[in-house]
Amino acid sequence: MTDNRDQVDAQIHRWVRPDIVKLTAYPVPDSTGMLKLDAMENPFGWPDDLKSQWQAKLAEARLNRYPHPDSPEVKTGLRNTMKIDSRWEIMLGNGSDELIQLIAMAVAGPDRTVLAPEPSFVMYRMIAQFLGMDYVGVPLTAGFELDLELTLSRIEREQPAVVFLAQPNNPTGNLWGDEKLRRIIEAAPGLVVMDEAYTAFTKADYLDWLEDYPNLLIMRTLSKVGLAGLRLGILIGDPAWIEQINKLRLPYNINNLTQLSARFALDNFAVFEQQSTELIRQRGLLHTALTALPGLTVFPSEANFLLVRTEPGRAADIHSALKEAGILIKKLDGVHPLLTDCLRITVSFDEENQRLLTALAPLLKLA
Ligand SMILES: *Cc1c(COP(=O)(O)O)cnc(C)c1O
Repeated sequence: MTDNRDQVDAQIHRWVRPDIVKLTAYPVPDSTGMLKLDAMENPFGWPDDLKSQWQAKLAEARLNRYPHPDSPEVKTGLRNTMKIDSRWEIMLGNGSDELIQLIAMAVAGPDRTVLAPEPSFVMYRMIAQFLGMDYVGVPLTAGFELDLELTLSRIEREQPAVVFLAQPNNPTGNLWGDEKLRRIIEAAPGLVVMDEAYTAFTKADYLDWLEDYPNLLIMRTLSKVGLAGLRLGILIGDPAWIEQINKLRLPYNINNLTQLSARFALDNFAVFEQQSTELIRQRGLLHTALTALPGLTVFPSEANFLLVRTEPGRAADIHSALKEAGILIKKLDGVHPLLTDCLRITVSFDEENQRLLTALAPLLKLA
């Protein structure tokens, strides 16, 4: 047994890339039985009548057959729901995570760079690392605004193959403003991907900018609006760009059940829109309630989460005390220097937000 172990270790070190051996896998905590406020999921289910209609649809699925390789019905549903002009091509991924990976694969190579403001969505950095690319994170200001001069100078110096801009940004929740975004897209020598994962919760919408900028792609997902379990990411842009990236997509990446469910959900999208409207309202209420607690700074948010800062050194205790109480939020303290003492809380419906507030209030008095 021991010999075996040594042999496996030796082989791993001989064959697996040293930079991969050094990595640690993206941690997803066990959330069994917990109130889950850590991953920006929609907390609402579907009304019963919709659920039974959906189940009837699923009964049509033929799992003995491969799925349609291009998911035409899903794309039609997306075009209608998101008002995507016929000039733009759509490509689907197993979540937008897969799309980030495929975009990066299309441009990867020695001395190729991925650039993104930081802190932002961690997969930009991780996927660049997986592919052996250089990654440049340009720090935001202390108030989480985009540092335009610094970003422009890094773009000039690094000549990134792709720039990722999440709007609203995760985990800061804010928008950086059209003027700065335009300057960055104009300065970028390569692709710019505007990641609109939180489009359901903001009026900001950069789909129209595809007309202005041939190097721009828009990325969305159904995850945050209410279908995280489905895994459907959406890339929109000039057909010539999409054609290249699509070559790297595995032929059946969107399975039959996802295609059927997505089409059904898109035909009934009003339900998600109502739920999003309610979550926007709850975001305002939760923001007010958290601000009223002692020792918390609450940042403005255009997404379905709130970023908060605790008093110095308290974030880890508060995070674990909430976990003890059965409530899971995201600890960001330690993830990036700008996020020291920060926690991220997904907005839920009233009862769950109240449960969080009730558990949180006594912890803040302890300081
Ligand atoms: C959650 C998130 C994603 C990933 O979404 P999936 O479609 O679930 O893979 C992408 N970008 C940002 C900014 C996110 O917050």
